[in-house]
Amino acid sequence: MRAIRRFTVRPVLPPALAALGDLAGNLRWSWHPETQDVFAAVDPVLWDTTGRDPVKLLGAVGRSRLEELAGDQGFLRRLGEAREDLERYLTGDRWFQRRWAGEGGPRAIGYFSPEFGITAVLPQYSGGLGILAGDHLKAASDLGIPITGVGLLYRHGYFEQSLSREGWQQETYPVLDPDGLPISLLREQDGSGALVAIALPDGPDLLARIWVAHVGRVPLLLLDSDVEGNPDHYRDVTDRLYGGNSEHRLRQELLLGVGGVRALRAYSRITGAPAPEVFHTNEGHAGFLGLERIRELTVEETGPRLDFDTALEVSRASTVFTTHTPVPAGIDRFPRTLVAQHFSEAGATPGVPVERILTLGTEDYEGGDPSVFNMAVMGFRLAQRANGVSQLHGHVSRGMFNGLWPAFDEAEVPIGSITNGVHAPTWVAREVFELAVAHGADRESDVPDSFLATVDKIPGAEVWAVKRRLREHLVADARRRLTASWEKRGAARAELGWIDNALDPDVLTIGFARRVPSYKRLTLMLRDPERLKRLLLDPERPVQLVIAGKSHPADDGGKKLIQEMVRFADDPEVRHRIVFLPNYDIAMAQPLYPGCDVWLNNPLRPYEACGTSGMKAALNGGLNLSILDGWWDEWFDGNNGWAIPSADGVEDPDRRDDLEATALYDLIENEIAPRFYDIDGEGVPTRWLEMVRHTLKSLGPKVLATRMVRDYVRELYAPAAGNARRLNSDFHGAAELAAWKKKVRGAWPAVRVEHVESSGVGDAPEVGDVMSARAFVALGDLSADDVDVQLLHGRIDSADQLTGTVAESLTLAESYEGGRHRFDGDVTLDHSGPFGYTVRVIPRNDLLTSAAELGVVALP
Ligand SMILES: *Cc1c(COP(=O)(O)O)cnc(C)c1O
Repeated sequence: MRAIRRFTVRPVLPPALAALGDLAGNLRWSWHPETQDVFAAVDPVLWDTTGRDPVKLLGAVGRSRLEELAGDQGFLRRLGEAREDLERYLTGDRWFQRRWAGEGGPRAIGYFSPEFGITAVLPQYSGGLGILAGDHLKAASDLGIPITGVGLLYRHGYFEQSLSREGWQQETYPVLDPDGLPISLLREQDGSGALVAIALPDGPDLLARIWVAHVGRVPLLLLDSDVEGNPDHYRDVTDRLYGGNSEHRLRQELLLGVGGVRALRAYSRITGAPAPEVFHTNEGHAGFLGLERIRELTVEETGPRLDFDTALEVSRASTVFTTHTPVPAGIDRFPRTLVAQHFSEAGATPGVPVERILTLGTEDYEGGDPSVFNMAVMGFRLAQRANGVSQLHGHVSRGMFNGLWPAFDEAEVPIGSITNGVHAPTWVAREVFELAVAHGADRESDVPDSFLATVDKIPGAEVWAVKRRLREHLVADARRRLTASWEKRGAARAELGWIDNALDPDVLTIGFARRVPSYKRLTLMLRDPERLKRLLLDPERPVQLVIAGKSHPADDGGKKLIQEMVRFADDPEVRHRIVFLPNYDIAMAQPLYPGCDVWLNNPLRPYEACGTSGMKAALNGGLNLSILDGWWDEWFDGNNGWAIPSADGVEDPDRRDDLEATALYDLIENEIAPRFYDIDGEGVPTRWLEMVRHTLKSLGPKVLATRMVRDYVRELYAPAAGNARRLNSDFHGAAELAAWKKKVRGAWPAVRVEHVESSGVGDAPEVGDVMSARAFVALGDLSADDVDVQLLHGRIDSADQLTGTVAESLTLAESYEGGRHRFDGDVTLDHSGPFGYTVRVIPRNDLLTSAAELGVVALP
């Protein structure tokens, strides 16, 4: 029988246990084992059967048990300590207060993302992008950074994965009842739920309520369109993550971007929280936030009423855009007509001219499609600061988006990079953490030094004992999951005896888990199935593989790869050595990374923008075995793991896969397994542990989300806040900058390099000679202060192009009539071989972040 209505009854806790509600209401418990211990003590069995979910636990525990606990002095003391610890965490001064308060740090930052992966009990993520967003918020909380997350609450989350008998991925979409989740409704003073409204074409306004999750010190606002007052098809806007057609996706992104800014405003109005000075969009999906900010500044009655160009400068100066994928299919592109419909006069941002909006998303470069609206392109145009997520990805992105700044070389494209990191308290196994603490690490410290100092002190036998225990946990978890999966696949219990011997805690364990788009090459290891079998079944040095990953529901190609993998792993000959575990999520990931000795990653270079799972493995003493892509390209040092040579440049994809798969088998067979099984007299693989220690020391400080978030503050948030203040105090700066850009763009056709002379180098120039250059330029209506006249010099390659170019500004020497000027400068010839130079003129203004920002240049 189906219920006609459902709701969740919240428990009433005895007053003595009120603190349990406080602890459950802040997700800090999810990375704080001591708080989890308190919940476990409420009822250890229920704690496990509710999936270690505090809200569910407190809903399920009986009144009599609660009354018993209310009289249990030992429990009350522990509860009180945990509550005090949370209070200290929430209110004490941390890195940001010590380092940035009063030093120009941003007052507040709004961080927008389509998904957030914080804990398994709030399943609002599909993969790396969401996990990264969750880790960003957690690390910001640990560092005391005043950030507020903005996202959507999806009623079905992503999906749960199971397998058919034949190994085909099955999706189910369980209903998430918000009342049973660790979130609370944002309410107006009168107790009614706060709402945001967005005008849509051909219908009433789209309404959304706002849920708040507390991620330590950081609030996360989640918009939810499943509210009374919305017609059914509006209620479905937030039905699931990455589902539906273009219109559905566009409406989700309207809600996230435009609705998100309105939600932040409501949150500030109701709670008094400071308004963000910086807006960060994690991937392009939330890009419409810039349009809503322009609307606020240009049409809102209470606001300053700027013109569009001035408002654009204000909004740009304070916006940061992070691009996350070099895979073109990963970038949102909408039909222009659809965007035009939604931003027409009566649309989402009324008063903002729709032609201006359309221009922002136009692919007006060579090879661009004039019929689409590109969210990444808009992202770059609405953000003064942009970055990729590893050095290699920054480089790839500069090439990929060079068309937006065609007058500039790739190296000058204004896209930087900040390499991702992971939140250690979430991802480091408790056993590893406690081993370090037992040897003197400071558990309160937010810098890794005290942990790193213990790495060489801990005896190998202790490290190895912990690693074995972690492998044991993984094996137990995997067997539990295999049993559940096979029961779902229709097997009888009696057929499943073999699972008791699936995997072995003493065998070299290799993990591979990630989403299954084709570039990640889930099945590369199956290129030569016989060779893989030999590795798995080697009598002396066996290897075992734990594999997991979800395919997007619409991607049958991905599902085929999963099926191929599952069929291989179903074979009775190898099924004790290779397992595919369905439904990869945070709950599976947490015991998986620590339980693996080697973490495998074999994407098609350079499509993995960064990758983070290998970082989580490394922090648990796992060694990476990976293609040199994303973060591994940057931080592999020859001794902290293994690089699978990538056959870049081999055109035939089959041949490339063959070459890379062979290299992978060779590494496992000749280097990895022999080292792992090279055991000394005490049963410890000393040479292996040397690599583990080196991994922890070389990667430990780098792969942390706290390092990443500090970089964001220093390189992007603080400079953005600074620029925003200079522009916005009375909007004069922005108006001047907008007027200046207009003047420069209008005058630029008259800007010319007329003539360049050099002297000081004769027929046989030598290293150390000084060349003097004089450039005669015509600037039309611009003054010499408006421009930078640069001498660009470097080597000359075989195609007669300048490479390794260095730009040096020349100085104004003389001005003539008619807007003509001479600029002079010297350059020392500091290397031998082919040398070349040229002169260029580019616009100059302190408020620009990059020479390329206006996209214009004059060359001889
Ligand atoms: C870390 C993580 C990811 C992302 O891993 P990549 O290496 O970026 O593919 C995806 N899913 C889960 C559950 C994770 O924990």
